[in-house]
Amino acid sequence: MNILVCISSVPDTTSKINLINDNKEFDRNGITFIINPYDEFCLTKAIFIKESTNAKVTVVNVGGSNNDAILRKALAIGADNAVRINKEALNGNLVASCIANYCQEENFDLIFCGRESIDFNGGKVPGFLAQKLNIPFVNSCVGMDIHDNTIEVKEEVDNGQIISKVKYPAVIAGQKGLVEEKDLKIPSMRGIMTARTKPLEVIESSVECNNNIKVINYEKPSERTECKIVDSEKVNDLVELLSTEAKVI
Ligand SMILES: Cc1cc2nc3c(=O)[nH]c(=O)nc-3n(C[C@H](O)[C@H](O)[C@H](O)COP(=O)(O)OP(=O)(O)OC[C@H]3O[C@@H](n4cnc5c(N)ncnc54)[C@H](O)[C@@H]3O)c2cc1C
Repeated sequence: MNILVCISSVPDTTSKINLINDNKEFDRNGITFIINPYDEFCLTKAIFIKESTNAKVTVVNVGGSNNDAILRKALAIGADNAVRINKEALNGNLVASCIANYCQEENFDLIFCGRESIDFNGGKVPGFLAQKLNIPFVNSCVGMDIHDNTIEVKEEVDNGQIISKVKYPAVIAGQKGLVEEKDLKIPSMRGIMTARTKPLEVIESSVECNNNIKVINYEKPSERTECKIVDSEKVNDLVELLSTEAKVI
């Protein structure tokens, strides 16, 4: 089985986010970038499949050379080879087009994406990618089992799960549940050493894509106000605060 895991590079979840250029742009200065957490669940699942079926796992990123470090980390975790499509990832459509072009040359059976990237939270790439390749797409996948030529997948929806059977090739957008958090693979010292010898191929893409969505500006959520603790015996005080301060009743 030939598996592709799409890896997005995102700010570390503890980063303090600043906006620049009249709030039109996110300031990358001083930010540490990590593998998108949803992609880590997918990568671990892909490696579990590899361990039980002898599959080959490739990781791909669309972006500049500053993303090589996260690809090396994915190799250290257990991917067999890495590909970076050397293109600035300006929007989800462009990213999906670059990955789709690459997939057309490689015949992957399973393509994993994270459910969404935790930077711009677009959630666009997996669906666009499946549509461009004209193959099935399962979103928000929280579990899967592989049978002969089908995959049984569990998709999380409001108040429940949809269980469906999908034929290869398919795009699966995964999240926590695909594997448990405690089972996430982390690089071992041996993995880090062998990652240095694994191939990290850089390919150019001729994909050009107009961005039909223009960002006017970004706005940070308002700062959290101080938390007030109300004595459980003083229900009237709580009602008063909810009415006069929080103004929610
Ligand atoms: C200079 C610059 C400016 C940007 N400005 C904007 C902007 O204005 N608005 C905006 O929304 N985004 C912006 N981005 C971010 C970028 O467009 C998105 O991160 C990227 O296009 C993915 O889109 P998404 O957020 O919909 O990803 P999602 O669809 O949320 O990602 C889901 C999954 O798709 C895969 N994936 C996503 N991105 C990549 C990638 N680059 N390589 C490989 N796999 C990937 C991963 O598996 C990820 O978990 C900017 C990026 C750069 C470099």
